[in-house]
Amino acid sequence: NTFAEIDLGEALNLNIRRCKYVKPTPVQRYGIPISLAGRDLMACAQTGSGKTAAFCFPIISGIMRGLVPQKSLRGARTVFPLALILSPTRELSMQIHEEARKFSYQTGVKVVVAYGGAPINQQLRELERGVDILVATPGRLVDLLERARVSLEMIRYLALDEADRMLDMGFEPQIRKIVEQMDMPPPGVRQTMLFSATFPREIQRLASDFLANYIFLAV
Ligand code: AMP
Repeated sequence: NTFAEIDLGEALNLNIRRCKYVKPTPVQRYGIPISLAGRDLMACAQTGSGKTAAFCFPIISGIMRGLVPQKSLRGARTVFPLALILSPTRELSMQIHEEARKFSYQTGVKVVVAYGGAPINQQLRELERGVDILVATPGRLVDLLERARVSLEMIRYLALDEADRMLDMGFEPQIRKIVEQMDMPPPGVRQTMLFSATFPREIQRLASDFLANYIFLAV
């Protein structure tokens, strides 16, 4: 019933204490063990439910455990993040980035954010310095993919935050284009988490297209 009981790795558990999180919220309490067990997750979560930590903790923990090697191409400008967090807006992306950075303090896990409506050059420079977890809005990420500055072939964790809002904003074509680029061999290695406040038919369709044998969590 406390974070100390969940083995997320020493450095992450320490950061959680630094953030003064003691007791997991319901979406964290039930969602984190599902993700740590390697299962895909579709979770009903409103703003304020603690969903950011619910998807960040398993991602950071998994990368820390070194389950996945970072790929580097000497001289190439393409970066290969291990985890992607998609969010609908610049503001939400910035918030997720800020939280994810606190959680990954001194873990060696690097978090970078890329959103539209801001100059791309600063974001490109940040990316060039290396990225494990990329937080992005769909439109800006498509731009980065088209410029071949980001490759999704090493992605092991995908989190879709506020998926209903992303669909309302018309991002479905971009999201499909992005996820298509991850469906490369070896299959079955990507773990996906879909968070949404509502579950209309379009969200259920996304879940059945992007998630494999997933667990549905409504808290
Ligand atoms: P979120 O729903 O992810 O936007 O989180 C809402 C707010 O609750 C944020 O300010 C978090 O830092 C905070 N929060 C999330 N989980 C916990 C927790 N287990 N204990 C205390 N605060 C939390």
